[in-house]
Amino acid sequence: MLDFSLTAEQEELRRTLRSFFEREAPIEVIAAHDREERFPSDIYAKMAELGLCGVAIPEEYGGSEADQISICIIVEEVTRAGASLGYAYIPTATFCAKGVTKFGTEEQKAALLPEIAAGRMRMAMGLSEPEAGSDLAHLSTRAHREGDDFVVRGQKIFTTGADTADYIFTFVRTDPEASAHHGLSVLLIPREAEGVTVRPLPKLAGQGTHTCEVFLDDVRVSADNLVGTLNEGIRIIFSLLDAERIFVGAQGCGIGQGTLDLASKYSVEREQFGKPIIEHQAVGHMLADMAIDVEMARLLTWRAAWKMEQGLPCSMDASMAKVAGSEAGTRCALKGMQVLGGYSYMVEYGMERFYRETKLHEIAGGTNQIQRNIIAGHLQRQRTK
Ligand SMILES: Cc1cc2nc3c(=O)[nH]c(=O)nc-3n(C[C@H](O)[C@H](O)[C@H](O)COP(=O)(O)OP(=O)(O)OC[C@H]3O[C@@H](n4cnc5c(N)ncnc54)[C@H](O)[C@@H]3O)c2cc1C
Repeated sequence: MLDFSLTAEQEELRRTLRSFFEREAPIEVIAAHDREERFPSDIYAKMAELGLCGVAIPEEYGGSEADQISICIIVEEVTRAGASLGYAYIPTATFCAKGVTKFGTEEQKAALLPEIAAGRMRMAMGLSEPEAGSDLAHLSTRAHREGDDFVVRGQKIFTTGADTADYIFTFVRTDPEASAHHGLSVLLIPREAEGVTVRPLPKLAGQGTHTCEVFLDDVRVSADNLVGTLNEGIRIIFSLLDAERIFVGAQGCGIGQGTLDLASKYSVEREQFGKPIIEHQAVGHMLADMAIDVEMARLLTWRAAWKMEQGLPCSMDASMAKVAGSEAGTRCALKGMQVLGGYSYMVEYGMERFYRETKLHEIAGGTNQIQRNIIAGHLQRQRTK
């Protein structure tokens, strides 16, 4: 039997979040954070009070370990409210919290997860490097063992939230002799450790949460900060990236739904030639296409999340969700701009923010070209089995 309905708890979650963000993070508040490039710490603290920071964390460590569809709903609503919030929230509460939960030692879980769940600790994801973006397995930040420590030297780029994070969940090369996919490990590097320099990069959108360069100059961290098994970091990358891609799909749905809500409201209020513009067929059809796009993207995203929840293989589904969600978001943002006409350019209407924010979802988490490579690879393997 196919069941497309949300549970009563999931419906309630969506309603609660919608009214929470409309109250705590209206368009003008997020616009001010972006204009002033100011981290939304006040809103983040309230999100933690609501329990949002513990959704990937088991109850025994202070979280509520929500199901994957509920996390998609949260990510969608956070993104609808604004990228500055999404960039503050998603790396810590989904990617890194999940990484520590799944691969961390008992000591790491006991020390870190309750702090993350309470909103007192944040982490940034240190994967990308200047010479290793799509080709992540060729990353060259090197960590070598010295007694009870690792000494780390290298550079990360595009590390979102690094300047306000307590730890950078850093992928490093621990065995330079191994082939590219082997010899990688994950270290939790405290942002304030000696030798860590973080430099924010000016960017297009979500400026409230900075995206940074991170320089690691002979940074000494205890071997206790190793997450997972030495030299098996690629397993962590693959395991976390499927979830990340599903959540990027949900971010695209958030952009799509946000633009659809703004555009449909505007199109019934705005009159030209003596009638609401939604009654001009060209406008009505743009809104219809936006609604179709959001629903299609959400179906693929939730299906991938459902498979992940069931423990089924979902790598191809995650890539499909990521492409479908991000590209639906971009198409919706473009149409939303057209529906609002000149007002779409004005900050107070909120549409221009979605227009700037959406492009990232086609790039981060593995570009959409890389996702299509993954999907094509699966298709090829299915045919040559
Ligand atoms: C605002 C922002 C925030 C980010 N936050 C983080 C973060 O918190 N942590 C983190 O680790 N990273 C982060 N990233 C990095 C992001 O994940 C990378 O930008 C992305 O993986 C692409 O890498 P790249 O930019 O080096 O592009 P490249 O890999 O250099 O790609 C350039 C172009 O070539 C194409 N290309 C490359 N290889 C292939 C191929 N094999 N087949 C087809 N096309 C190919 C790509 O699709 C792309 O169009 C962020 C990026 C941005 C812009």
